[in-house]
Amino acid sequence: MSLPISFEFFPPKTPEGADKLRATRQLLYAQKPEFCSVTFGAGGSTQDGTFGTVKEILDEGVDAACHFSCVGATKATVRAQLATLRAMNVKRLVALRGDLPSGYGIGGEFHYASDLVAFIRAETGDAFRIEVAAYPEVHPQAKSAEADLQAFATKVKAGANSAITQYFFNTDAYFRFVDDAAALGVDLAIVPGIMPITSSTQLMRFSDACGAEIPRWIRLRLQGYGDDIQSIKAFGLDVVTDLCDQLCRAGVPGIHFYTMNQSAATLEICKRLGL
Ligand code: FAD
Repeated sequence: MSLPISFEFFPPKTPEGADKLRATRQLLYAQKPEFCSVTFGAGGSTQDGTFGTVKEILDEGVDAACHFSCVGATKATVRAQLATLRAMNVKRLVALRGDLPSGYGIGGEFHYASDLVAFIRAETGDAFRIEVAAYPEVHPQAKSAEADLQAFATKVKAGANSAITQYFFNTDAYFRFVDDAAALGVDLAIVPGIMPITSSTQLMRFSDACGAEIPRWIRLRLQGYGDDIQSIKAFGLDVVTDLCDQLCRAGVPGIHFYTMNQSAATLEICKRLGL
């Protein structure tokens, strides 16, 4: 099966982590990703690591997307960062609001990702392909599902080229979201974000924070495995491969893997899908 796939990484914090990520990338490149993306700590906290990892990916001959969050930023800092990225020959951005760690004031000159998308287009025209985030199960801070969908449409109409979703395990939520967005005139590619399951505690922690629902049956099965990592991984591979299989059969425009800087689970899922 031929389908555009992309891989997401976070910037490593140590030289050992950077070496490990280089090895992970080489294994994943065998899947010929359309691009690899690198996350960006809100408030610019990981800027050097993010930009450095993006540069390495480009130097390895693979297209790279730089995540870019605007919460707490000023127009002047964003302008300077965009200039740096252009000088690096970066052509893709994932434009986000981001979340400031608790304790930081809000401040800044951007309120929402739509402000950032509009600013990037006004400042740089079509220099970047812009991806934005989508939330089939509703962003946790949204006033309502309807308001969130409207906010998504506004963000897209500000100049996005395509979207990547928060991860989910309910395909119904994704298909409904795509249909509802289309009804608002949003007809860009909404690529499902897929989180391989490799650890029960990590998945529960992330999901609680980002509002992704873990269906009761999956939660209970994971809890039942306790510390039995092998069973968690085997179950996770079955569940996530089935999820991707349903999405692929329905004709999704691509798949974006949240790799967590690991290759094994993502590679096995690709292999089982015949990607
Ligand atoms: P927005 O689209 O601005 O939405 C944020 C909230 O504001 C939503 O509740 C929305 O309904 C509401 N809203 C939007 N516009 C309006 C409006 N005009 N009026 C009222 N309400 C409005 N975080 C990072 O820090 N670094 C990353 O690298 C990163 N990468 C991500 C990649 C993907 C694919 C995804 C799905 C998420 C990523 N995140 C990342 C997390 C993201 O930053 C958070 O989910 C954040 O809370 C929202 O960012 P956003 O760009 O979706 O915000």
